[in-house]
Amino acid sequence: MPFTALISDLHLSAARPEINRSFFSFLHGPACEADALYILGDLFDYWPGDDDLSDPLNAQVAAGLRALGDAGVTVFLMHGNRDFLLSRRFSHATGSTLIADPTVTELYGTTTLLMHGDTLCTDDTRYQAFRRRSRSRPWQWLFLAQPLWLRRAELERVRGVSEVQKKVKPAYIMDVAPAAVEQAFRESGATRLIHGHTHRPSRHVHQVDGRERERWVLSDWYVRGQYLRVDAHGCTPVDLS
Ligand code: MN
Repeated sequence: MPFTALISDLHLSAARPEINRSFFSFLHGPACEADALYILGDLFDYWPGDDDLSDPLNAQVAAGLRALGDAGVTVFLMHGNRDFLLSRRFSHATGSTLIADPTVTELYGTTTLLMHGDTLCTDDTRYQAFRRRSRSRPWQWLFLAQPLWLRRAELERVRGVSEVQKKVKPAYIMDVAPAAVEQAFRESGATRLIHGHTHRPSRHVHQVDGRERERWVLSDWYVRGQYLRVDAHGCTPVDLS
């Protein structure tokens, strides 16, 4: 049966070679069978700019995605909060299509809303303020004007700060806000929402305006890889060995 595969939050980096191997075997295995692959953000642990395609791991990832596209699988890419600087050069090198967050699409007859998930965490006001700033053109222009080594160092530093904050921020701040989820369903008219980011893989059922809607949260790839298989019968999380 035709299906689409969705993944997010792989956080690929040279520091975790076993996850990188798992990603490449996914590309050579199940992903090849899919109609399309959606990467819903945070493919990379951080992305300092498309000139970092010169990094050996990044070049290998790009080649892997390009080969998947050449094999006939459409690859869609959404920004995460870690790799929001992925841009045209990367999408060109990989043959993938950058899609907006949010995106509404029809998947086998179901109106489906796709998001990374960070915009749903509205209780984290400090992060939302940073997000607004860092998605602006002037911020990105100034950031990208710095040499690559400096951008890498800065993002490593920001990542370290965010790891520390994660340990002290209350749990509800790190999860989606129910009101933001309801609003997203309402504005999109979707009956299914698929997102990542929170690293809390699960299926949730929401009643919004008297209609039952489902929300699938994708798994991260910290312990093992997992993709969500979507076909005409519904969604199934599939673990990779
Ligand atoms: Mn994220």
